[in-house]
Amino acid sequence: MTKSAGFYDLRQAFGEPGCALCRLLAQTADSYIDSMLWELVNDPELRQELNQTRGYCREHAWLLVRHGASLGAAIMMKDIIDTLVRVASAGPFDVSSSFSFRQMWQSFNSSQPSAAAQLAADFAPQAPCPVCVKVQSSEGYYLAALRQHLTGLDSLAPAYQASAGLCLPHFRRVLAQTSDRETLTALVEAQKAVWQRLSTELSEFIRKKDHRFQHESYGSEGDSWLRAIEAVVGTPPKGKGG
Ligand SMILES: [Zn+2]
Ligand SMILES: [Zn+2]
Repeated sequence: MTKSAGFYDLRQAFGEPGCALCRLLAQTADSYIDSMLWELVNDPELRQELNQTRGYCREHAWLLVRHGASLGAAIMMKDIIDTLVRVASAGPFDVSSSFSFRQMWQSFNSSQPSAAAQLAADFAPQAPCPVCVKVQSSEGYYLAALRQHLTGLDSLAPAYQASAGLCLPHFRRVLAQTSDRETLTALVEAQKAVWQRLSTELSEFIRKKDHRFQHESYGSEGDSWLRAIEAVVGTPPKGKGG
């Protein structure tokens, strides 16, 4: 079977700490933000799109804080802030007149959406975060590549088994898409081996916390409790360890 780029990306990521998929998708988000920042200044369509999406979601917007990005971020954020001012100015009522409270009170008591609810909806992103969209499609690609290369000669299974495994959300996602029996077995076996190894390390860590064994220094199990958190929920938000 010819190997796709996804195979090599996954094999490489299995050699690094943490969930391989979390790692690859963080790289996807990172380089996508980079390319957007470069294009931002010259692409009116992209800027228009970012006004509609109100920029990026909370997780991805903070990726803008990076070396050399302040001008691009400022241009994007000014567009968005100006869009918010425009929405505020085009509201369904004139906030400067005295009728607004009464009208709002009336609409609270009717089945119609209130002026306030309408305005809240107008301020909301009108389309999903473009980085989320990109990450989702990249995730689909890597999940398919993983399923495709879990069995047969030169499969990803040994690299998977020797790695920190997939985080539980990614493991469940790939599981849900697996219909082939052999792939399913390889997947569960690899992940189970990872969890068993982690459990042994946690036992060792807990044992050494006992005052009777406190003279023993920590080995690889020293950060097993952190890796266990990551194994269950995925990588920490950027800037929080990991
Ligand atoms: Zn993950
Ligand atoms: Zn996002």
